[in-house]
Amino acid sequence: MITGDIIKDSQTYLMNTYSRQPLVLVKGRGATVYDSDGREYLDFLAGVAVNNLGHCHPRVVVALQKQAQRLMHVSNHFHIEPQVNLAKALVKNSFADKVFFCNSGAEANEAAIKLARRYSREVLKKDRYEVITCFGSFHGRTYGAVSATAQEKFHQGFEPMVPGFRYVPFNDLKAVEEAVNERTCAILVEPVQGEGGVNIPSAGYLKALREICDKHGLLLMLDEIQTGMGRTGRLFAYDHEGVTPDVMALAKGLGSGMPIGALLATDKAAQGFTPGSHGSTFGGNPLACAAGLASLETLLEDNIIIQNVGALGKHFVTGLETLKSKYPFIKDVRGQGLLIGIELDFDGKEIVTECLKQGFLINCTMNTVLRFIPPLIISVEEIDRLVNALDGIFKKR
Ligand SMILES: *Cc1c(COP(=O)(O)O)cnc(C)c1O
Repeated sequence: MITGDIIKDSQTYLMNTYSRQPLVLVKGRGATVYDSDGREYLDFLAGVAVNNLGHCHPRVVVALQKQAQRLMHVSNHFHIEPQVNLAKALVKNSFADKVFFCNSGAEANEAAIKLARRYSREVLKKDRYEVITCFGSFHGRTYGAVSATAQEKFHQGFEPMVPGFRYVPFNDLKAVEEAVNERTCAILVEPVQGEGGVNIPSAGYLKALREICDKHGLLLMLDEIQTGMGRTGRLFAYDHEGVTPDVMALAKGLGSGMPIGALLATDKAAQGFTPGSHGSTFGGNPLACAAGLASLETLLEDNIIIQNVGALGKHFVTGLETLKSKYPFIKDVRGQGLLIGIELDFDGKEIVTECLKQGFLINCTMNTVLRFIPPLIISVEEIDRLVNALDGIFKKR
């Protein structure tokens, strides 16, 4: 089919939930993707922080091919070897003792919210159900996850939301203290807010949240769906602060593009779930888990996080800081590892379009924050190419 027809059919047959770029992507290798007309683009969006190893990493491709020939699905009525292998690897490399698999980020947060309520009621024998979350957060689109998401625009027209959430400003410990009451069972927070505009809390924020949770007997639940799997320069962002959560949600980078989500928990918190209390038909699917294990092993064995992410992130931010000193309409540059944003004093949509024309995929969130979340295998030279292109685009404003 020719490109124009695909786009036309896309608009005819798909529900109108996305404002898509007029582009059909058909192929990817490393940090480069190709459209249906053969044009190439450097990918600083990476499937929204999913393709951490770049596109079609050979090790993940081989793992998928092998698994597809053996077994694609059997359900959780049986033990599934790739699922066990991935759970074991995640436990070995994190704070957690136990893993629950699902298929997306929203589902991982659903599981977290359900676990927190049930842990409080069934294990602690306390009738508590409120979860504290932050303004500007993003936890997903299902009813529980979107109710946890404290952003008006995601609720609009969908009310009533699921009750039992209390919203506080991000990076405000006093507000958290004040929000805790006899109904509170957990705090759910992103270590760095991604969709909310790449907001990085003050040093010590997570540590203080940990202390509040310990003081009141609450679960500290981290949404590391975007920050996890090496994105911020550590395997998990909580590593930067030397604190551990009770519960953590993962998805995005976990499967290098295969749909998979996971909820990780300590043995203690995991007691909230018992047979029959929660489940998923596809959760822990053999293909998704094979991709997950190959991705995690590659990240660790190829030393990608330690060797690349911190240094590349610094280099990238330095380049963007130089732009900031030249262009007063750049209000802020912020980032942790390769989760980087620059805040403009105007709508960033036109910059995204201009970048696209010049062969770069980038993203704009919260209207004014250009977000850069490239594959973790991006090169210094590729980063420089984008920074130079941005310089040219900004110069013309
Ligand atoms: C993307 C994202 C989600 C939602 O994940 P889906 O797979 O789209 O459901 C939740 N939390 C954070 C922090 C995210 O970045």
